[in-house]
Amino acid sequence: MTNSLEFKSKFKTLFDAEKKRLLFNGRVEGGQYAIASDDMMDEMDFSSIEIENQMRMRLRNREVLYLKKIEEALERIGAGTFGLCGTCEEDIELKRLEARPTTTLCVSCKETEERSEKLHIDGHQHKSLGRAVKFA
Ligand SMILES: [Zn+2]
Repeated sequence: MTNSLEFKSKFKTLFDAEKKRLLFNGRVEGGQYAIASDDMMDEMDFSSIEIENQMRMRLRNREVLYLKKIEEALERIGAGTFGLCGTCEEDIELKRLEARPTTTLCVSCKETEERSEKLHIDGHQHKSLGRAVKFA
């Protein structure tokens, strides 16, 4: 399944479109921001500009991260490993790929990973929050 031409071109088209969208967003947002900061400098106090900057940075970081995942997925399509689980090397379920095209884990490996992450977080919370964890 993962090596059929139809399968590969379907996801390649999807990733190319997402890439374009993200790169286009970046340009538009940058342009708008330059105008907005000149206009609003007098009305906004420094701290609200700071907060807005941080929010934009966070959003931007997330987009950059997503873009990186898309690039990696495109590389995997080129290498013929797209759609294979990075852990058990089985085919990732098509439904899962359609919902999360940049995923590199099949459902069962993802569940295993999430379980171990959750255990780790719970253990950490237990230590740092002390008795508060009883009411969580
Ligand atoms: Zn797996």
